[in-house]
Amino acid sequence: MNPFYHSTRSGENSVTSKQAILTGIAPDGGLFVSDALGEKKLPLEAVCGQGFHETARMVLGTLLPDYTPDELADCVAAAYGPQWDSEAVCPVTPLGTDWLLELYHGPTCAFKDVALQMLPQLMSVARAGDGRQIMIVTATSGDTGKAALDGFSEVEGCGVTVFYPAGKVSDVQRLQMVTQLGGNVAVCAVRGTFDDCQGEVKRIFADRALAERLEGRGVVLSSANSINVGRLAPQVTYYFDAYAQLVRRHAVRPGDEVTFCVPTGNFGDVLAGYFAKRMGLPVRRLVVASNANDVLTDFLTTGIYDRRRDFHKTISPSMDILVSSNLERLLYYASDGDCELVASLMADLAEKGVYTVPDAVMDEIRSTFACGRADDAATRAAIRSTWEELDVLIDPHTAVAKHVLDAIPADGTERVCLSTASPYKFSSDVLAALGTVTDGMNGFACMDALEHLTGTAAPRQLSELRAGTVLHDDECDRERMGAFVESACARVFL
Ligand SMILES: *Cc1c(COP(=O)(O)O)cnc(C)c1O
Repeated sequence: MNPFYHSTRSGENSVTSKQAILTGIAPDGGLFVSDALGEKKLPLEAVCGQGFHETARMVLGTLLPDYTPDELADCVAAAYGPQWDSEAVCPVTPLGTDWLLELYHGPTCAFKDVALQMLPQLMSVARAGDGRQIMIVTATSGDTGKAALDGFSEVEGCGVTVFYPAGKVSDVQRLQMVTQLGGNVAVCAVRGTFDDCQGEVKRIFADRALAERLEGRGVVLSSANSINVGRLAPQVTYYFDAYAQLVRRHAVRPGDEVTFCVPTGNFGDVLAGYFAKRMGLPVRRLVVASNANDVLTDFLTTGIYDRRRDFHKTISPSMDILVSSNLERLLYYASDGDCELVASLMADLAEKGVYTVPDAVMDEIRSTFACGRADDAATRAAIRSTWEELDVLIDPHTAVAKHVLDAIPADGTERVCLSTASPYKFSSDVLAALGTVTDGMNGFACMDALEHLTGTAAPRQLSELRAGTVLHDDECDRERMGAFVESACARVFL
């Protein structure tokens, strides 16, 4: 027993990292944090001389101390194996005078793979202690569903059920999900919107009668939400590893500070950069890049977080978020562990939709974090100029970060732009940004045209989808989602 994590809203009732990963969210609604963060620094010299796997083991060993080195070695080998189409896992490549950290070489071509290839491994080890079987239930607007399916497919003791809104995901996204192999996966289209799916999943988690029936079969429901420490911890690895790559390229000397610019939605990715800084990585700045849903830009500028605003549907949909859940962890650390403050801010958010952070805490946050925004027009312009001037093809999420990075005055540090999805995952918007009229073209026609126009190749994981067999054709009304989960549990856990 190593009680390492407690809630952002209370210092009591600590749990081990395995328990934190199995539970996901703390019982009082807070997020799990550790006061030991930063007590143990990673040895930078060693990090610079080793590969992604070794660094992943070091990072996870520090953040999840009740896993044994052998357990973590197995998890790392399984999560970052041949399913990645780059030997480096997350390679750093030149982006003009800056650098691009490519996080999209995993099985689903989006950065969620870094965490969602690892989380199922961590869960599988953690649940081995108590023997229960876990059914992951997720609602998706497109990207997370496939990453969860791929990560949990064939993982011992786990199943995964994904709901997506019928007719409201792209051709490629739908095919990615409905062609998923694995005896423990279930996929269902829902007649409704993403919010309908999400709302019903929340109700399913709160359904006591359902929970009791499942418990009778030894099954518990869980989520693969991005607030789980098992998703956050793996993301710290690529900040250290990117730094090591820059050292090996002689772009920086060990100890030099580096700036990272991060396209941000739920604040998980950029928070992992903050963890890396606390764990000893020389980080000058973390730049929070937002799309038209710029609640974080306003927050970092004014100290007021106000979600009472219009929601914008943009061409960088994975960042279309008004409540960035993981920000709660930053508030905890920046206030020096003031649970009472965090709890009262979160109560304000729930009751009034707005909270104001004390100046001292904002000063601490601003000493590391900078920010900027890009609307869709700026995003398209960044895709086009990056291709025409630098010969680098980027997706709309990455383009938001590129635009924001370009607007920030250079400060002499090397700068890394995080690239969170393959441009081919968003072929139609990328093609349109490059000036092609895409009216009437489906996802694969856009993919072909983008290859032709740029002379680059679509990742095999995406181009092969057109030949894939549809294995999941269930469709239901919102009211039937609970029954679908129950029958999936019966099928997966015989
Ligand atoms: C999820 C996602 C993001 C945002 O990451 P957060 O951790 O939610 O801030 C950015 N880009 C892509 C492609 C994503 O899928």
